[in-house]
Amino acid sequence: MTDLSALSSSPTQGGRDAVLKFFYGPMDCGKSTLALQMNYNHRRQGRRGIVLTKHDRSGGPRITSRIGIDNEAVEVVDGLDLVELVCAYDRIDYLICDEACFYNVEQIEQLADLVDDHGIDVYAFGLASDFRSQMFPAAQRLFELADEVARLQVEVLCWCGRPGRLNARIVGGVMARTGEQVVIADTGSAAPAGSAEPDGEVGVHYRVLCRRHHRNGDLGDEAASSSPLEPAHA
Ligand SMILES: [Zn+2]
Repeated sequence: MTDLSALSSSPTQGGRDAVLKFFYGPMDCGKSTLALQMNYNHRRQGRRGIVLTKHDRSGGPRITSRIGIDNEAVEVVDGLDLVELVCAYDRIDYLICDEACFYNVEQIEQLADLVDDHGIDVYAFGLASDFRSQMFPAAQRLFELADEVARLQVEVLCWCGRPGRLNARIVGGVMARTGEQVVIADTGSAAPAGSAEPDGEVGVHYRVLCRRHHRNGDLGDEAASSSPLEPAHA
């Protein structure tokens, strides 16, 4: 069972240590939705928090979830010092860190500092591995440092029906094995003005596959089941 006890928002009052938790899962497993739900639950308890994200699918400083809820968020740019950010506020009880896999490793260290030196609860959400099934450096550091790690598996299925575990990058209809670790998917509907892409499969998008089909690169009936209109990234 995945431990989602943090969603119940137990307050830090009462002397317990602050915690660093990392919730990970493939694309489309509902990470952003859970992040926003957790923020709502904590805020309702009167706790003060900041929501952080990076490369959100909306392209702006907010978290958007596929089921339509969203929230203002601070964009974690490369040079941003998260300790300084938090210390600029009067009082912060917790951080919700969406897309934490894309932060840099130094920023993950800063999250641990906030937990240990400032008593702030940090709830991080993100992918564990990239399109090659290799760990993002920030995700690796979170695995190493977190008090608790939980895999989220909210019914993401491969085309074959097995549990979706790994993110595949598809370029021109073919699964990519090499390339930059982070490439934002083309959204189809939001192609840059003046781009002359022919209709169809030229762009980059992502799909979740089971381990077997990620390893052998079998996309099943790619054209029928892919969703190029759904922006995503890994
Ligand atoms: Zn499969």
